[in-house]
Amino acid sequence: MKAIVVEQPGGPEVLQLADIPVPTPSEGELLVRVKAGAINRTDILARKGAVAYKKATSRLGVEMAGFVDSVGPGVTGWQAGDRVMGLVTGGYAEYAVIPANRAMRIPDNLGFVEAAAIPEVFLTAYQTLYWIGRLQEGESVLIHAGASGVGTAAIQLAKRVSKATVIVTAGSEEKLAFCKELGADHGINYKKAPFEEEVARITDGRGVNLILDFIGASYWKQNIQSACVDGRLVLIGILGGSEIAGVDLFDLMAKRLQVTGTLLTPRSDEYKAALSQELAARILPLFAAGEIRPIVDKAYPLENIREAHERMEANQNIGKIVFYVGE
Ligand code: NAP
Repeated sequence: MKAIVVEQPGGPEVLQLADIPVPTPSEGELLVRVKAGAINRTDILARKGAVAYKKATSRLGVEMAGFVDSVGPGVTGWQAGDRVMGLVTGGYAEYAVIPANRAMRIPDNLGFVEAAAIPEVFLTAYQTLYWIGRLQEGESVLIHAGASGVGTAAIQLAKRVSKATVIVTAGSEEKLAFCKELGADHGINYKKAPFEEEVARITDGRGVNLILDFIGASYWKQNIQSACVDGRLVLIGILGGSEIAGVDLFDLMAKRLQVTGTLLTPRSDEYKAALSQELAARILPLFAAGEIRPIVDKAYPLENIREAHERMEANQNIGKIVFYVGE
């Protein structure tokens, strides 16, 4: 099969199309004929050789959508031809295997390109808003990088599932307008105004209940200022760096803040299965009903995956950058 491989860490030019063997599904796995997949920041970090938990950078791609080609021993409930999506390893390829207990059925109203835009970002947004962030109905949430893949998923979940007050930050008016279309109540252009001042104004000085932060070090102080007393900060990314000088821990005590960090890719198979099953049961019906939608920024043929990486690294996308296989 054709697959994208990486022999040496580096820039987008190290992404090479190669012929490698089709994987064989083991006990409890499905072999999937991949029709589409998506680009994630974790792929970029892995391509650069910068992810500690990914020793080998040779195969990238953490999600896909396609047809079940065949089922491994012990699999029940799935058969060849079923439309499936979910988290995988080595998804930049014509075939991939997925444990059946984390495979999700694609809602009938969605094509493969749209489906490929769902797993990683909706699972991450769901996990961080609910399992970790414990968002309650009617609370307020600050979502940074609102137009990112995870951001666009989180806005929709927070609004439709929790009727939360959603405040987003983004770096352009176009991105903010899109976030508002998705349901965000307030948009802050972080390049034009200190976001913590806007958050204070919007919340009458109280701060927000929950912050989903992809930025890290460069936002640390402003995030602490933007959280309410007893607030929660979930750290999901470090686009703005990971080391902070001059941290005053008293700030955390004074506000009784709970700060949690998380990474989805290195989680256990059991965790990914439980999370996928909950998303499938609770959220996929909202896709089927058209209440929530996958946000596809742009789709590239698999062979042009370098351009897709370049687009993400240039921060140009609104929602997900997707690749497709074949026509
Ligand atoms: P994405 O679609 O590529 O969007 C990221 C956006 O963040 C950029 O387009 C840019 O938008 C903004 N940004 C980049 N650098 C910034 C900086 N230094 N300061 C402020 N804003 C910055 O990203 P994604 O795929 O949704 O992922 C978002 C983050 O979540 C990434 O850090 C990713 O690694 C992380 N993630 C974590 C997990 C996990 O389990 N922990 C899972 C999935 C994703 P603007 O134009 O608005 O600046």
